[in-house]
Amino acid sequence: MNIYKRALKVWGKDAQMLQVIEEMSELTKEILKNINRKKDNVAEIIEETADVEIMLQQLKYCYDIAEDVEDYKKEKLQKIEKRLDEWEEKHGAVA
Ligand SMILES: [Mg+2]
Repeated sequence: MNIYKRALKVWGKDAQMLQVIEEMSELTKEILKNINRKKDNVAEIIEETADVEIMLQQLKYCYDIAEDVEDYKKEKLQKIEKRLDEWEEKHGAVA
């Protein structure tokens, strides 16, 4: 059993889903410090990004949605690419 599934089994769905929220808020806080207070906190941003990615992996196992998320991401990225193409066509490419 992989570590993500093991964590869900050992600590339970509710605790782990609350941990998703906690880690997202920690990352939010570091991003805000970086932008609003010009804090040199890239090390903290790295740490919190890793924490969020670990918890998002557990969330995908928890709800059994990994494949659906992948499918939606592909669709979404195509839409973003289309919007970028349109923007660059209108305003010119960003160097
Ligand atoms: Mg954290």
